Amino acid sequence: MIIDTHAHFYFPEILENIEEIIDNSLKAGVEKIIMPAVDFKSCETILGLVSKYNMLYAALGLHPGDIKNLDESEFYKLEPLLKENKVVGIGETGLDYYWDKTYNDKQKVFFRNHLELAAKYNLPVIIHTRDSVAEAIEITNEYRHRIKAQFHCFSGNTDELKQIISCENFYVSYCGNITYKKSDSVTLVENTPVEKMLSETDSPFLAPMPHRGKKNQPAYVVDTIRKIAKIKNMDENTLIDAIHKNTEIVFPGIFQ
Ligand SMILES: [Zn+2]
Repeated sequence: MIIDTHAHFYFPEILENIEEIIDNSLKAGVEKIIMPAVDFKSCETILGLVSKYNMLYAALGLHPGDIKNLDESEFYKLEPLLKENKVVGIGETGLDYYWDKTYNDKQKVFFRNHLELAAKYNLPVIIHTRDSVAEAIEITNEYRHRIKAQFHCFSGNTDELKQIISCENFYVSYCGNITYKKSDSVTLVENTPVEKMLSETDSPFLAPMPHRGKKNQPAYVVDTIRKIAKIKNMDENTLIDAIHKNTEIVFPGIFQ
């Protein structure tokens, strides 16, 4: 059974077709989907969706790209939401130095706040990085005995990958871009033990081949998994079973 640990379902174009997208997921063998939030508005949309659809679960957090205009004092509004039904993780949070470097320090404050909440509520944390892997690892490392972490859509270098997989509580996942011809993630996938892998799509972004160019959806996670199995020269179902075991460890909330 396959789990998509990362699908952004609050976009209008997804909400319009949600019945069809869920139906496609089930047909593809995807049994559960975790939807990370990026801001307070998406937290609300996601909480609405999880109460309506059995297979959907929520991760709540403020994306580093979406906090620029938030006051640091507003972070407190996140905590009460974590007690809602079917909240199984915190995120996505992290550091994004790609688009705008003018508020890196503020990003670090918010990131640490998320990690504190993850420790306090014993929830796994979903980490976004862009041009920031080294620093994200350094900060997450301070919490390595207190939290479980997923470095989602991982794109660091081999050394950074080694640092992550050497931590018992840290995991990585790869998106559909590993199926693209010019992908430099092949070496990363080769060097990632299956015991450290989770599966995700990052829908509606980064659709894997042969769907590249279309809007991504959880059903397409099978194409990414197939590619990982091929790179690692292993049986697809063995890989699916291994990833499932890891998901039980990192996101126990979706199996309760
Ligand atoms: Zn995301």
